[in-house]
Amino acid sequence: MTVHESVVDAIGGTPLFRLARLGAGLAAPVYAKAEFLNIGGSVKDRAALSMVLAAERDGLLRPGGTIIEATSGNTGIGLTIVGRQRGYRVIACVSDRSAAEKSDILRAYGAEVVLAPTAVPAEDPDHLFNVVRRLAEEIPGAWLANQYDNPANPDAHVRTTGPEVWEQTGGRVTHFVAGVGTGGTISGTGAFLKKASGGGVTVIGADPESSSYAGGDGSPYFVESIGHFLHPDTAEDRWPESYHREAVDRFERIPDRESLLTARRLAREEGLLAGPSSGTAVAAALRVARRLGPEDLVVVLLPDSGRSYLSKLYSDDWLRRWGFLEEPRGAEDTEPTVRAVLDAAGFHAGAVAGVGTGPGAGRPGGPVTVASDASLAEALAVLRAVPGGIAPVVLARPARPYGISATEVLGSLSAAAVERAVAEGRAAPDGPVTSVLGPALPTVGVGQPLSEAREALGPGQDAALVLADGRAVALVHRSALGSWAGSVGRGA
Ligand code: PMP
Repeated sequence: MTVHESVVDAIGGTPLFRLARLGAGLAAPVYAKAEFLNIGGSVKDRAALSMVLAAERDGLLRPGGTIIEATSGNTGIGLTIVGRQRGYRVIACVSDRSAAEKSDILRAYGAEVVLAPTAVPAEDPDHLFNVVRRLAEEIPGAWLANQYDNPANPDAHVRTTGPEVWEQTGGRVTHFVAGVGTGGTISGTGAFLKKASGGGVTVIGADPESSSYAGGDGSPYFVESIGHFLHPDTAEDRWPESYHREAVDRFERIPDRESLLTARRLAREEGLLAGPSSGTAVAAALRVARRLGPEDLVVVLLPDSGRSYLSKLYSDDWLRRWGFLEEPRGAEDTEPTVRAVLDAAGFHAGAVAGVGTGPGAGRPGGPVTVASDASLAEALAVLRAVPGGIAPVVLARPARPYGISATEVLGSLSAAAVERAVAEGRAAPDGPVTSVLGPALPTVGVGQPLSEAREALGPGQDAALVLADGRAVALVHRSALGSWAGSVGRGA
């Protein structure tokens, strides 16, 4: 049995598990590296230790100092564990889009948590990255870990993760698959494996479909901590220096639904309770392995535990609300769902339901929307032509190949409200739609039963936005939901 003098000594040395069930029928074996078994629960413990040691060595972090970092949670946990063990104060600045459980864990380990938005342009002073820079300047003795550009982040994986994978597979690994957040994991591990194998290892990035790393438009996606999101108003898009593009041979682009459902299978079928980015990585690894033979060996990295996502990916209700789940709740559950209403209206939302449909496949046009940069006169022309005279207002993007992410819906606009505001002199016809913006419409998942959809509408609302795969696919009106008496059941 292993005995450690400090928890810090227990970082790294994680096991590989064969994915026997998910990989059944594949010629090439797929092994998962269980990074959630690190002491802080994620792969980021390695980067945290490496960055703190390098900062001490370089004289950037001195006794009594403060560690500051912008972190989706896991790097913060690693930095807090390592930092507190070594006597530092730790401030973790967390995106307000991250799972709440992650902030609770940070506080439990003794970090101070500051929440800041990331769904604003990078130039906005309130943006997470600007908040951390300001704190680092204001607090004496503060050191900003900056995992995005800190060479000690990828270096942790050159020194530990890469050698472990090589040794654990006896040098037989031929393909390495991982997600790309800061890029530290894939760049460091990939570089080591390529060198050790004389260029024989292929490195594959697992990217959320709309992430810009692999060529997406950077619109939002539902898998946390990996990929690259781009706000349309961001003037200069910067990729982290911890991500070395040359280390990645190619990408697999994974739709959110495939990522989330693969993570759930990983828990149920393999006994590995991991987070959504693990789902993306395993989905990519399975795609890769399908094209390989028995002489190949795939290693896929599982960055963190599923325990931080019980209220999201592991909640059936959450998945159903965002339109990621459509199965009935049980054998007795025969109530028609929102999809039945759409089907009856001739709306072929079925095209978005398939797992593994590939980039852009079968996406419907979605509901009529008003872009946030439209004028009130332009909006009015659109609104007068739609049923109910109401439409969601969405953040303007040049093109939307992946549909409208529910998280980019800013509010609603009705023809009546615009006409009233103009008549009363509160707004000018050439003014921006944002001057008359109404509250966001209620949303319903395409797999939610009709009784829930009616409940979501409440007394004051006439229409709800229907979500499939986290994207707005249609607007349903009270009349369609209320008068529904069809005999079409689920999946019709
Ligand atoms: N998955 C999770 C859950 C993470 O926290 C991170 C780190 N942000 C990653 C994947 C990506 O790792 P890296 O930053 O090394 O690219």
